[in-house]
Amino acid sequence: MSSPGDIVYFESGFVDKDEARVPISTHAFNYGTGCFEGIRAYWNPVKEQLYVLRLREHAERLLRSAHILHLEPDPTLTQGRIESIILELLARNGYREDVYIRPILYKSGRTIKVTLSGIATDLCVFTQPFGDYLDIRKGLNVMISAWRRIDDNAIPARAKPTGAYINAALASDEARARGFDEAIMLTGDGHVAEASSSNLFLVAGGTVITPQATDDVLVGITRDCVIELVRQRGWPLEVRRVDRSELLSADEAFLSGTGVQLAPITQVDGRIIGNGEIGPLTQELQRAYLQVARGEVEDMAAWRTPVPAAVGGILPGRD
Ligand code: PMP
Repeated sequence: MSSPGDIVYFESGFVDKDEARVPISTHAFNYGTGCFEGIRAYWNPVKEQLYVLRLREHAERLLRSAHILHLEPDPTLTQGRIESIILELLARNGYREDVYIRPILYKSGRTIKVTLSGIATDLCVFTQPFGDYLDIRKGLNVMISAWRRIDDNAIPARAKPTGAYINAALASDEARARGFDEAIMLTGDGHVAEASSSNLFLVAGGTVITPQATDDVLVGITRDCVIELVRQRGWPLEVRRVDRSELLSADEAFLSGTGVQLAPITQVDGRIIGNGEIGPLTQELQRAYLQVARGEVEDMAAWRTPVPAAVGGILPGRD
């Protein structure tokens, strides 16, 4: 009997996950030459509907990352095609719960040559049931990492290269080994960039502030959702360079990302943020984001793509 996540997309088809294997000489396995996305789908139990959050933007960013990294997939693999592969994969797996979706465009060619151009590129996608990755009802205790965020002139910060996540893993391991929940990384020149795999926001004097895209952050899709929700509420917003001491003295702070969703921060490097409770603006944004994501409100319908119950007569999870 199959269970959710058993069916994956690999080498242009839907197969059982045990059949999706790559040879050890695969370029991406040797050099981390791939790019990926992390996407969430939210199950709405009242409507009995699974919604993929900002599918179009994720497919777009995947292809933009690929362009930067000279990953050249088959031209039929357009943004629309990637979206429909993901929708079909979710339908075939028959999910009735929250899901994490991981598409990867990777150098599938088998060569030891250290290059990017001219090597075959393939798409694979797998999914898994996924609840809250962090406890977002409590405040996080974070540290500023000794590991700096990769510089855009070393590995493109705007792309999501698989190999670059060594940087994120080093920072996150350091934080956990020291008893913190997460790591905040600075740019090479010492400004606040982002967390290991999420963007950072702070609130100071009623203004919502987030580091600018040119400070080596991944331009997060959740970051974009937060910016939109802040604008809708008419709250002052600044997207600019952020100093370390601004973070330490903020009234509120939170992380945004597909995985973490909106995760409040209540301590940074041993300093209490605000009064140590989850701040009111953070709470309101978190509530609004999750309601929109799950389709509990009609607003921002363009952010949600409903997953069809079955595709082409295929019974979900039975193919
Ligand atoms: N920064 C990094 C380094 C990330 O890996 C992620 C997760 N994709 C984010 C920020 C947040 O991006 P998004 O909101 O698009 O998930």
